[in-house]
Amino acid sequence: MSGEIGKRLAEVQARIRAAAARSGRAPDAVRLVAVSKTVPVARIQEALAAGVTILGENRVQEARDKIRLLPGATWHLIGHLQTNKARLAVGLFALIHSLDSLRLAEELDRHGAQAGKTVRCLVEVNVGGEAQKSGLPAAEVPRLLAAARRLPALSIEGLMAIPPFHPDPEAVRPYFRALRELRERLARDGFALPELSMGMSHDFEAAVEEGATMVRVGTAIFGERNAEG
Ligand SMILES: *Cc1c(COP(=O)(O)O)cnc(C)c1O
Repeated sequence: MSGEIGKRLAEVQARIRAAAARSGRAPDAVRLVAVSKTVPVARIQEALAAGVTILGENRVQEARDKIRLLPGATWHLIGHLQTNKARLAVGLFALIHSLDSLRLAEELDRHGAQAGKTVRCLVEVNVGGEAQKSGLPAAEVPRLLAAARRLPALSIEGLMAIPPFHPDPEAVRPYFRALRELRERLARDGFALPELSMGMSHDFEAAVEEGATMVRVGTAIFGERNAEG
């Protein structure tokens, strides 16, 4: 617990609790997904020993190799998922943050049904309308949710977003707010989506203040990545 990762983790956890308190939310209303992409297994083990319970990976194959070595942890997929890896992903992840098309929803449902399990996922929304980013435009989310109602092995539990990068978290805050407001509009239309996955190392406090139920934090726990994840 006294290692470098343990210290950083404790700091991140304290900042999450403080941000939750500032916005009048319970400290346990926010779960921390420790993003371990490109991080070697030994360092992930250190994080687990220090109290991390959920790990986030953005590539299916990289995650598969790590999960073999660390089978006790809970793993989330936070990166784009190709339909041809849907079966593998269903077997590996407790939650998929990156559902972004009806075709992928149908594949996940099919493989979930075959495996006899419910596939839990979040819809990734392209809140910045950036052409190069994955995620569904906000206007298309209701149609996906309506179509997914006939997919019994799929459970859509919330929304996820990766807003445009800006070093100043206050410049990112409007995107977090937009995701929460989208959830409120969808709730009025009968779609209950409790989870909001938003906020990364440099802006997770603003995300928590705007209602994040999950933050995805890599660098602030594990340090800088050398390879681009
Ligand atoms: C890499 C990544 C993160 C974590 O980024 P940091 O800035 O290192 O905290 C969060 N979400 C997604 C989707 C990522 O790919």
